[in-house]
Amino acid sequence: PNQSLDVTTFISSQPHRGKTAFVDAVTGRRLSFSAFWLAVERVTTYLHALGVRKGNVVIILSPNSILFPIVSLSVMSLGAIITTANPINTSGEIAKQIDDSRPVLGFITGQLVSKLAAASYSNLPVVLMDENRVSPNKSQNHENRENIIGSLEAMMETEPSGSRVKHRVDQDDTAALLYSSGTTGTSKGVMVTHRNLIALVQAYRARFESEQRTVCTIPMCHIFGFGAFATGFIALGWTIVVLPRFEMSQLLSAVEIHRSSYLSLVPPMVVAMVNGWNEIKSKYDLSSLHTVVAGGAPLSREVTEKFVELYPTVKILQGYGMTETTAIAASMFTKEETERYGASGLLAPNVEAKIVDPDSGRVLGVNQTGEIWLRSPTVMKGYFKNEEATASSIDSEGWLKTGDLCYIDSEGFVFVVDRLKELIKCNGYQVAPAELEAVLLAHPEIADAAVVPIPDVKAGQYPMAYIVRKAGSNLSETEIMGFVAKQVSPYKRIRKVTFLASIPKNSSGKILRRELIKLTTSKL
Ligand code: ATP
Ligand code: MG
Repeated sequence: PNQSLDVTTFISSQPHRGKTAFVDAVTGRRLSFSAFWLAVERVTTYLHALGVRKGNVVIILSPNSILFPIVSLSVMSLGAIITTANPINTSGEIAKQIDDSRPVLGFITGQLVSKLAAASYSNLPVVLMDENRVSPNKSQNHENRENIIGSLEAMMETEPSGSRVKHRVDQDDTAALLYSSGTTGTSKGVMVTHRNLIALVQAYRARFESEQRTVCTIPMCHIFGFGAFATGFIALGWTIVVLPRFEMSQLLSAVEIHRSSYLSLVPPMVVAMVNGWNEIKSKYDLSSLHTVVAGGAPLSREVTEKFVELYPTVKILQGYGMTETTAIAASMFTKEETERYGASGLLAPNVEAKIVDPDSGRVLGVNQTGEIWLRSPTVMKGYFKNEEATASSIDSEGWLKTGDLCYIDSEGFVFVVDRLKELIKCNGYQVAPAELEAVLLAHPEIADAAVVPIPDVKAGQYPMAYIVRKAGSNLSETEIMGFVAKQVSPYKRIRKVTFLASIPKNSSGKILRRELIKLTTSKL
């Protein structure tokens, strides 16, 4: 195996010249693959000229854009490390990420410069990603104006003088520092190597057809969007139409106009397609769409079944993965490959798994629930500057302890039960909120549900539910508790219901249970 290979060189070896690589859905601007790779080459040389070297961290703070993959692949091509900040994060959260990752340079859109300034990192040199939209007067308002050292557009348009010295990049060098969603605590910096991303591209080649058309609406800063739109689909020669952020009508118009065949969505977006079906089918021609890839969080059985019924010509590819595994670890086409709704799928060809009893450490058998441990060339190198956390999540044989409770059936299908950390401990029993949520979501009058623990002196904790009722429903707390009680063991019963207008979720589509728990305890 070639030890010295960077992911950018690996991807660009099949350059798909002449085809359209990226389209900006808002402005209509197009980049051919030739223009795209030329831009990567130039930006890489400029970065080198600016002093960026192997191992340096470069931060990108930008909504989705056709320039995002150019920055990412250029940085990785040098052997430097790209870290992606989520533009919806607060300046406090961004400051934390900067403190942790210590970037030498930033790529940022004009609108977000103030967020960086508020994070009091006004001395970080930054390159503006949308110079054309920032007037000279306006940029004088940026507190850190003197630290704007250039514009990406200028780097892309002008031939750099001189050439760069190519440094040896090993496959085990860190290519990207991607932060986990922070669902269970502070988000962690995950060191994704060139080998991990090359293995991701190989998995994409095995899983997806080449030369498709897709719309990017999920965040490129998260592993799901980064893996797809900054590496995987580029390698496959897909045309990627980019939306700055998720907006349903823009997304569906883009599918119609650009005749997209594939969409990558997080579960709440799939839910919105199901709930809005009446209007959607009368307004948009979605006949080009044949596959929806759903990942980032669990997609409930109810929603999956409903989606397959309403959009009979579209297949759903369910995927289970995490930042720490770079790529999808298990996946399946619902209906096409199996009618096993509720499963996350079969392990990817390069992934091994075992189910381990979290208390005894014993390896469990078929259909027994325990923590899933994964081993694969896509498993991260470790958590950035956190040897302790790395040592407790990856053992000496390379097994990643995922923190997810799963079982694997006799045919190898992986079922995710819940996260170990989120189990509710009630009278010595353990209750999985996800199981109760699935029961609740099956009720015809419930639009969305989240189950969290409520503290209790005697039991320790009880499960309680936050419920979003469907429009026009008058469903009561007693009716909901009765509905659940009929279907689950007594210790799993829900003891309290609170109605909400919507359930708080993060950008990878996960319920923000910590916020709900805070809401619960503030009312006690
Ligand atoms: P943090 O680790 O910071 O608490 P996070 O785990 O939510 O945040 P991600 O790496 O974005 O950060 O998410 C990975 C997790 O998402 C998995 O460990 C799993 O719990 C959940 N997940 C992802 N896909 C699925 C799926 N198809 N079904 C069930 N759970 C899923
Ligand atoms: Mg996690």
